[in-house]
Amino acid sequence: MIFYDITEQDKELIKIALETLEKNFDDGVYNHTVGAAVRCKNGKVYSGVNCDGIHGSCAEYIAIGMSISASEREFDTIVSVHDKAPNCLVAPCGNCRQMLVEYCPDIKVILNNDDNEIIKVDIKDLIPFAWKPIIV
Ligand SMILES: [Zn+2]
Repeated sequence: MIFYDITEQDKELIKIALETLEKNFDDGVYNHTVGAAVRCKNGKVYSGVNCDGIHGSCAEYIAIGMSISASEREFDTIVSVHDKAPNCLVAPCGNCRQMLVEYCPDIKVILNNDDNEIIKVDIKDLIPFAWKPIIV
């Protein structure tokens, strides 16, 4: 597993995700409690919060969906945040890991390790032996 350095750009990405969460936080009706920000390879950043509901969507889906809707296809790094989590970072859930490896197989993810140190790793290391579509 490769551990990438946390850069100033990464700290900025965390800040953008937290600002997006702060602006849209809701722990009542809509339960917007997680933010995410993705930096594309061209440097553009897209962010979003989770959308709760019976078939709700994680913030990672919203951020990636925003970027794809803006015609982005090349992704560099993603981060997810919760204001009360250690380092304000949350790990992508299993469903998001699967989505990320399918849409962005080269993306890097910023998250905490088990000792709550901030790390940046390849998505492939977060979902080994991932499901792949069968192409016939
Ligand atoms: Zn998720």
